[in-house]
Amino acid sequence: MYQINETHNPALTSWVTSANQGMSDFSIQNLPFATFRRAGSKEALRGGVAIGDQIVDLKALSETGILDGLAQEAAEACSADSLNRYMGMGQAVWSALRAALSNALATGSDLEAQVRTCLVSQADVEYGMPCHIGDYTDFYTSIHHATSVGKLFRPDNPLLPNYKWIPIGYHGRSSSIDISGQTFHRPVSQLKPPTADEPVVAPCKRLDYELELGIFMGNGNALGDAINISDAESHVFGICLFNDWSARDIQAWEYQPLGPFLAKNFASTISPWIVSMEALAPYRSAFSHPGDDPQPLPYLSSDVNSEQGAIDIELEVLIQTEKMRAAGTPAETISRSNFNHSYWTVAQLVTHHTVNGCNLRPGDLLGSGTQSGPEPEGAGSLLELSNGGKQSFALSNGEERTFVEDGDTIILRGYCHNDGAARIGFGEVASTVLPAKV
Ligand code: CA
Repeated sequence: MYQINETHNPALTSWVTSANQGMSDFSIQNLPFATFRRAGSKEALRGGVAIGDQIVDLKALSETGILDGLAQEAAEACSADSLNRYMGMGQAVWSALRAALSNALATGSDLEAQVRTCLVSQADVEYGMPCHIGDYTDFYTSIHHATSVGKLFRPDNPLLPNYKWIPIGYHGRSSSIDISGQTFHRPVSQLKPPTADEPVVAPCKRLDYELELGIFMGNGNALGDAINISDAESHVFGICLFNDWSARDIQAWEYQPLGPFLAKNFASTISPWIVSMEALAPYRSAFSHPGDDPQPLPYLSSDVNSEQGAIDIELEVLIQTEKMRAAGTPAETISRSNFNHSYWTVAQLVTHHTVNGCNLRPGDLLGSGTQSGPEPEGAGSLLELSNGGKQSFALSNGEERTFVEDGDTIILRGYCHNDGAARIGFGEVASTVLPAKV
């Protein structure tokens, strides 16, 4: 677990003055990572760090010669078109680059003139995938989501008995994960309407988003070696926003006995920015299971995990329909939740994933599962907000929704703030549904 240090000091400001405005996601205390190039150019993608409305081009920074030691090695690794090598370098290297960037970007830094030559405006860039995602595993860590969805699929048996013992997950598909701005066609597959005797092949009618966080692995583990919970977070590079698009009618017909398949692998969208675990240090809080529930087995339990396992990340889902876009109406919030409702911590996910010796590699992605809060309005999917499609809800322009319709853009946002720390944010992830290809 990271200690609070000078890089988290809420009094710290940057000479990039847009970083100092109270509501900026990209304050100097954040320093998240992406890959980018100038929009429309043929430039190679390279790593960058957000500061206010600018990006520090890490390739350009590595060429200035103003960094040294581990920070210079880190910046050189970030000059590549994907961050996998940097992600594999581990905590000491990540911390060295963070400290050097914080120092170079702080108000009064004598490196300002050189670093200024490495800035690119966020308004002028397009983002790439931050890394090659070798494998993607999706978990199911919100007990509120698991219970609500369980009720819809199995009214008499909503929460299966293993839920409170195992961080439930499945292996997903990484090829269809794309960056914010993703558009995709409404998926087609087998559906079986409840009143029909036989399935049909048709466009999904119950298309849904899932409000999730994406957890990017850093240095992994050798095949056969488990990661101990006391050490698990040191293997995690950082966290992004993650919309795990889901086709509920495809899911209902196909999910037994082997779990999700085509209902899940047609599109998933990540935010371009990955917030490091070190940046999240000030927003940690105690973690426990309710006293009446089974307590985590010893391999999923540690003092640090109990004292600081939870992460207080405010989450928000917004919609902008095609009509809203045409009328110039901004996106509208439809639910809010928080990652601190999660039934399992990041460390527990990593430890459980490797307890059998499964090897995780730099750039692997773990989905948190839909982050629904305890209240119905905190639901992280439309399946829950519409009570299984039975109740539509009204948007402020008079349109109604039960599930996602063609032309809808779904946007996820996330941020952290508390009294003793600066505000940091994740930016956003937006993706838009196009009509089915039929
Ligand atoms: Ca999911």
